[in-house]
Amino acid sequence: MYYGFDVGGTKIEFGAFNEKLERVATERIPTQTEDYALLVDDIAGLIAKYDAEFGVEGKVGLGIPGMEDAETGALLTSNVPAAKGQFLRKDLEAKIGRSVKIDNDANCFALSEAWDEELKDSPSVMGLILGTGFGGGLIFDGKAFSGYSHVAGELGHSRLPIDAWFHLGENAPLLGCGCGNKGCLDSYLSGRGFELLYAHYYGEQKKAIDIIKAHAEGDVNAVEHVERFMELLAICFANLFTCFDPHVVALGGGLSNFELIYEELPKRLPKHLLSVGRVPRIIKAKHGDSGGVRGAAFLNIKD
Ligand SMILES: [Zn+2]
Repeated sequence: MYYGFDVGGTKIEFGAFNEKLERVATERIPTQTEDYALLVDDIAGLIAKYDAEFGVEGKVGLGIPGMEDAETGALLTSNVPAAKGQFLRKDLEAKIGRSVKIDNDANCFALSEAWDEELKDSPSVMGLILGTGFGGGLIFDGKAFSGYSHVAGELGHSRLPIDAWFHLGENAPLLGCGCGNKGCLDSYLSGRGFELLYAHYYGEQKKAIDIIKAHAEGDVNAVEHVERFMELLAICFANLFTCFDPHVVALGGGLSNFELIYEELPKRLPKHLLSVGRVPRIIKAKHGDSGGVRGAAFLNIKD
């Protein structure tokens, strides 16, 4: 039995999955915002409850909005204040007497997709989230690759390629990022970036969904904006694909519902790839909101 916890700022979602990776239990509890000991107790309590219910010791995985410091194991997260700087994995392991895996929620999202029935034999899957921010996860042979410092897959903080800068034109905006740098992909390719770029070029604040609606209605600015954005996506994705050459790319987040992306990218990508580079299969994520908890549970499928 695989137990996954998607630890969020306001709630913790628990899911149990059997050996066929079918979900057999779900529970949601509020996240303790101040008391760390209670937070650990809450998670351990759910584990004990479902161990008793299923008569097994489930394998435990946690997905968190952040990461473990690669040297100390302290948790780096701003969204779960009670756990910030704490040694959540080790403390939980001591409490429940078994090993616990932990990874960031973007890797969990990608891992969830990689273990989808249809993709589970793919040697590599890249998950890309076009949500409030832009982030990703890299899965090789069914395992999340987190790198030396646990920052592998933080693709939103790689910077705009030079050809993307030229593509945006003389009036290109140099957008700041929460990480302290400028020009991070996070500020351009996210749903937020889609809106920021529209506001920059047309002087009007519009929600992504309204821009997409205006595009469908043939609005001149929206059509121009979407054309510019699709090419920007193609340029930036092509750079990532040249680095990682994934077999499959699963897109999540609000902007991944913009169907035009799946038509446009395969047409636009080849000219930005190496001549031998093949366009990967690009699909919409299937597991949406349950991806975090599925991926957390599946951290334990492969050791
Ligand atoms: Zn950044």
